[in-house]
Amino acid sequence: MVDIIKNSIGACINLCRPYERPALSKGFLLPEAPARLPSFHTCVGANEERLTPKWYKEHGIELVLGSRVKSVDVRRKTLLTGSGETISYKVLIIATGARALKLEEFGVKGSDSENVCYLRDLADANRLVNLMESCSGGNAIVIGGGYIGMECAASLVINRMSVTMVFPEEHCMARLFTPKIASFYEEFYKSKGVKFVKGTILSSFDIDSNGKVTAVNLRDGSSLPADTVVVGIGIRPNTSLFEGQLTLEKGGIKVNGKMQSSNSSVYAVGDVATFPVKVFGESRRLEHVDSARKSARHAVGAIMEGNQAGEFDYLPFFYSRVFTLSWQFYGDNAGDVVHFGDFSGGTFGAYWVRNGHLVGSFLEGGTKEEYEAIAKATRLKPAVEDLAELERQGLGFAV
Ligand code: NAD
Repeated sequence: MVDIIKNSIGACINLCRPYERPALSKGFLLPEAPARLPSFHTCVGANEERLTPKWYKEHGIELVLGSRVKSVDVRRKTLLTGSGETISYKVLIIATGARALKLEEFGVKGSDSENVCYLRDLADANRLVNLMESCSGGNAIVIGGGYIGMECAASLVINRMSVTMVFPEEHCMARLFTPKIASFYEEFYKSKGVKFVKGTILSSFDIDSNGKVTAVNLRDGSSLPADTVVVGIGIRPNTSLFEGQLTLEKGGIKVNGKMQSSNSSVYAVGDVATFPVKVFGESRRLEHVDSARKSARHAVGAIMEGNQAGEFDYLPFFYSRVFTLSWQFYGDNAGDVVHFGDFSGGTFGAYWVRNGHLVGSFLEGGTKEEYEAIAKATRLKPAVEDLAELERQGLGFAV
C-alpha cells in the first residue's frame, strides 16, 4: 500500500481495501466460526476504530482502489499509476509491506500448481480454505517451520488433515525459540498427529497431468505423498519502486527514528522499513503487525509535529496462538538464556540476559497481567547479576 497525503487530504492507493492480516493464519482458517470478512477491518485487533469504507469517507481519506503504482519519482514527488495517472504528493508514506518468498527462488518449480498455497493475502487464505475443504482427510505438507508453518499446521490439523512439516533447521521457529522451547511445541504438535521432517528441504514436486502436486521430494532422497502443500519460507520486502532513489538497508528502506527515509518527504512503516531499535543497538526490519501499527502511528505523529517529534522507541513484540496454546515475546533473544516454569504443559518461559541486563522475555500460557509484567520488565532492562537466582525467581522476577 502506498499512502499519500496531498494538500492535507489523505489518499490511500491500494489494490484492495486495507484489512488486518494476522487473522489469515489463525481464526480465518478455522472450520467452525471462522474470523472472516467483513468482521476484520484494519484496527480490529488493536481495539481501535474499525476502518470501514464509511470511516475513510468520514475522515476525508480518498481510497483509490484497484490501482497499482507503477513508478515513483521522489525528486519530483510524483507517482505514476497503472492507468497512466500522475499523482503528486507533499508527503509519501511507503507501506508496501513484503511478499511471500517463492520456491522458484530456490530452484523448485511448481508454485503455481492448484494445490500449492502460500499465505500472504486474502485470496491466498480463501484458496487454502477451499483446498482444506476439498482435501479433508488427505495429506498436507507444510514447507517451513516459522510463523506461517506453525500456525497453518495447527489449522490443517483442526481441519482434519494429516500434516507433515518440513524445514531445514534442527527445530521449529529457529529465529526465536530456544531448543527447549521448540521441543515443547513440537511434542505438543506430535500429540496432535503432526510429523516433523527436520534438517532438509524440498528438491522438487511430482506433478500429475492435471497440474496437481502428488508428492514432495526432499533433498535427503525421501518423498512424501501430498494432497495439499502450504509454503511459508519467509518474505521479501517490496522495495523495487524505490531502489536507486532511497537508501536501503538490510533489505528494507532505511529510516530514522521519525520513520523518515533518505528523502525527507518520504516515510516508510511496517515490514518494509529498517528502523533504529534501541534494544538491538542497531537498525533492523521487524516483521510484525504490532511494529507495523506502531511505526505507522509514529510516522504520522512525526509528519504532523515536524521537528518537535520524538524518536520511535519500540520494544519488539511477537505473539502467536495455536491450538489451545498462546505465547508472547518481548525484546531481543540474544545473550544468555534462562528458562523457568512448567514445561510439561503449564505456564513457562525464558529470559535473555546480555551484558548483565535483561533484554528479552518469552512466556507461554500467561495471563494478561503476566504478559504486561514481562513486557514492562523487558522495557526497564533491569540488571541481572545472578542467572541461577533469575531462574529460581522465574516469572516472579517480572510480576
Ligand atoms: P518465517 O521467516 O517465520 O519462517 C520461514 C521458515 O521457512 C523457516 O523455518 C525457514 O527455515 C524455512 N525455510 C526457508 N527456506 C526453506 C526451504 N527452501 N525449504 C523449507 N523451509 C525453508 O516466515 P513465514 O513463516 O513464511 O512467515 C512470513 C511472514 O509472516 C513473517 O514475516 C512472519 O513474521 C509473518 N507472520 C507472523 C505471524 C505472527 O506473528 N504470529 C503469523 C503468521 C505470519
